Amino acid sequence: MYRTHTNGELRIENVGEQTTLSGWVQKARNLGGMTFVDLRDRYGITQLVFDMDTNKELCEKARKLGREFVIQATGKISERSNKNKNIPTGDIEIIVNELNILNSSDVPPFTIEDESDGGEEIRMKYRYLDLRRNPIRNALFLRSKMALEVRKYLDGMNFIETETPVLIKSTPEGARDFVVPSRMHQGQFYALPQSPQVFKQLLMISGFDRYYQIVKCFRDEDFRADRQPEFTQIDCEMAFIDQEDILKMFEGLAKYMFKTFKNIDFTEAFQRMSYQEAMERYGNDKPDLRFDMAISELTGLVQNKGFQVFDSVEYVGAISAPNCSEYTRKQIDALTDFVKKPQIGATGLVFVRYNADGTFKSSVDKFYSQEDLKMWAEKLNAKAGDLILVLAGSKKKTLTGLSELRLEMGSILGLRDKNKFSALWVVDFPLLDWDEESQRFHAMHHPFTSPKPEDLHLIDSNPAAIRANAYDFVINGNEIGGGSIRIHDNELQQKMFKLLGFTPEEANNQFGFLMNAFKYGAPPHGGVAFGFDRWVALFQGTDSIRDVIAFPKNNAGRDVMIDSPSVLADDQLKELSLKVL
Ligand code: ASP
Repeated sequence: MYRTHTNGELRIENVGEQTTLSGWVQKARNLGGMTFVDLRDRYGITQLVFDMDTNKELCEKARKLGREFVIQATGKISERSNKNKNIPTGDIEIIVNELNILNSSDVPPFTIEDESDGGEEIRMKYRYLDLRRNPIRNALFLRSKMALEVRKYLDGMNFIETETPVLIKSTPEGARDFVVPSRMHQGQFYALPQSPQVFKQLLMISGFDRYYQIVKCFRDEDFRADRQPEFTQIDCEMAFIDQEDILKMFEGLAKYMFKTFKNIDFTEAFQRMSYQEAMERYGNDKPDLRFDMAISELTGLVQNKGFQVFDSVEYVGAISAPNCSEYTRKQIDALTDFVKKPQIGATGLVFVRYNADGTFKSSVDKFYSQEDLKMWAEKLNAKAGDLILVLAGSKKKTLTGLSELRLEMGSILGLRDKNKFSALWVVDFPLLDWDEESQRFHAMHHPFTSPKPEDLHLIDSNPAAIRANAYDFVINGNEIGGGSIRIHDNELQQKMFKLLGFTPEEANNQFGFLMNAFKYGAPPHGGVAFGFDRWVALFQGTDSIRDVIAFPKNNAGRDVMIDSPSVLADDQLKELSLKVL
């Protein structure tokens, strides 16, 4: 038997008993005639004591232990004179009479401590050592518990977890597919699923009625910060439902998770905001509502007063930062630099101080009177003491800039507290998205998303204005989930493919199986998928999803531990009938 207890288990009540423990040497200290070893496993740390006076040989053996050696120790549990209040086992220690070295260890390349001295790259290279550290391990324990609770909730609601294949054909989630060459069918390729979308729809046609799966998805996208080429979704689908049913069901899941893991009771229904309002008031489709500071359009108010910069643009908009009217010139310059960054690309920042005494002082006083500025303030619901920040330009770009500026101000003012949560549904997304480059429409969500019936008449005259039965779930400015009610009518689906620029042959080639299935009694259905990694990261209070994935890829999509991707041997290429150009 390697152990009778774990290293997190023993308490003062156990004093006098014998124990055998196993684990890793966290650290060893020699103090006079005594040697103290902190023995670690996933459950905690227990102090081992070796005494030169009573057992010289054993103590000398203990003095040779290095960091991360794997050992087994047997001894008597005794009360510590010098108690450690910081750990649960801190009242006791083990007076060791038998020590077994199960394995030695090289000196680890970084310290296995909560605050390690290792940078991210080295920790990723030795991820198995990184995973010995509490913060990383705890995040993965949370992940495991969250997956379990998701399953409990959905199982309780009669959802059936069903696996779907990984070697498939292209799925239309708007990214590139990862592909796998087939050896048996030379020159042919499988694609890895960007999501199980078509399979879950087929399961509805099969009559499964409520499906879910905690599932890996693969998307070959350009690497943006904190994206993983493979990631995990809680993927769900339901039949005989409308949008309201879906929102209610999964609002229930979200509330259950908040209660279970954060002890937060959301007693009210989550806010619903239209896509249009989200874009106009917050500048993006995943507003962080932990704070307000919404955007207001000022275009009509500011034009034709002789200020050329505002007169020459499509859109002028502003936010009002609370209690910032006394910002120094330097602070305002820093904000100006922020909006001039290439990612935002504003040409400048106009500001208005709404002074505590009710007067205004702006960077455009030459063009605007106190009355003018007062009207701006009213439009923004600004209060004395606020600092109004104004951007101008094309509507799309300016709203994006204001969105970034709003989030920056939220961070500066400490309004984005990680322990505070705001959740909402964004609804009524447009069905289509015009792509300038290819000069055609793309599905904003995916091609199976149904248009709102009341907008269908726009299909020929103004397709861009058609709204979809599509929704996103947003927590603290992160898109945590998204889904839609699907088209379940063959004819409408064909129309949609046509609108998206597929020829009937292309549509048939790619989705013929689904179109066929629609001929055999497809029920009304819809679903949603949640980004599990991001949700865990949010609950763990970390910014990076890498922290909640056991073996993540780095920002360049590389696994630096196993060194992947890597080249294939010539033999393997030949077998697959492939040539690298
Ligand atoms: N398949 C969609 C996605 O991955 C989710 C859904 O529509 O259910 O975004």
